[in-house]
Amino acid sequence: MLPRMIVDEQAEVLGNRTLSAEYNVVTLGAASIAAAARPGQFVMIKTKPGLEPLLRRPFSIFEIVRAADGTPVGISILNKRIGTGTGQLFEARVGDRLACLGPLGQPWPLVEPPTTAWMVAGGVGLAPFATLTETLAARGVSLRLFYGARRGEDLYYADWFAERGVDLVLATEDGSRGTHGRITLPLETALRETPADAPIAIYCCGPTPMMQAVAQRAADAGRDAWVSLEQVMGCGMGGCYSCVVPVKGDGGSPHFVRSCTAGPVFAASTLHWEGLAHHG
Ligand SMILES: Cc1cc2nc3c(=O)[nH]c(=O)nc-3n(C[C@H](O)[C@H](O)[C@H](O)COP(=O)(O)OP(=O)(O)OC[C@H]3O[C@@H](n4cnc5c(N)ncnc54)[C@H](O)[C@@H]3O)c2cc1C
Repeated sequence: MLPRMIVDEQAEVLGNRTLSAEYNVVTLGAASIAAAARPGQFVMIKTKPGLEPLLRRPFSIFEIVRAADGTPVGISILNKRIGTGTGQLFEARVGDRLACLGPLGQPWPLVEPPTTAWMVAGGVGLAPFATLTETLAARGVSLRLFYGARRGEDLYYADWFAERGVDLVLATEDGSRGTHGRITLPLETALRETPADAPIAIYCCGPTPMMQAVAQRAADAGRDAWVSLEQVMGCGMGGCYSCVVPVKGDGGSPHFVRSCTAGPVFAASTLHWEGLAHHG
């Protein structure tokens, strides 16, 4: 486990860019968190002052926002509106101050060349891949992003990744962009076409059934995958035990660990997926 340097900042909302009726990107002036964050870590945000909702909500750190000289000055959040807290973040106004705790959780493990990184994102599961891209690209690692969504217009930030040299593989369920179907289709093809001993690290974030499918395709090809779970969590710091997930213990029987401190990133092979589907 990493030594923890957790900060609670009253972060000013510096920007709120609407991407669609469901998605937006909020920029927060959380300089200390930005300076300490590693790819794949998350923050707990009080999406509005007051009691509704009482608990903060977890969000991946999407981008590290930097000043012209490179100094980290804040973070951005790729937000998908699904309920109360994400609805409040959707409507955040420039100048609002939101309590923001982080950076939290275990980051993505990092690789070096000649290993190639394959990132597999479903919908808002794109969020933990921007920081991973910047860090791995700086190391000279070749990157490929398998990015799936329901419709072409839901494939946000594809250009952002292309501009950073990421090889994009797109899929949409309505066939309007990329492969027609789920992102596991082109992933399966790529796995089949790649020699078994080629050094590849697979990173995945998205809905639990999608991550399970990716983990299965990777295992069928004799590979493991890193997955970032989106378990509902109350405190983000290991205190409330609301985010426990089953992992394989000795002899294969499941035991539970807290996703906020042991994760959210796990090796897929260590998770007890059947228990997770029921528990998640
Ligand atoms: C580590 C981590 C990182 C995350 N990163 C992001 C991110 O970058 N961007 C983003 O938009 N979201 C992210 N999420 C998911 C986000 O935290 C939830 O969508 C949010 O907590 C929902 O809060 P709410 O108040 O809007 O919904 P609520 O009003 O609390 O709930 C609305 C409905 O959604 C269900 N629900 C709530 N959370 C989840 C969930 N995680 N999965 C499935 N169903 C759920 C509830 O059971 C309820 O039915 C992340 C979650 C985790 C654990």
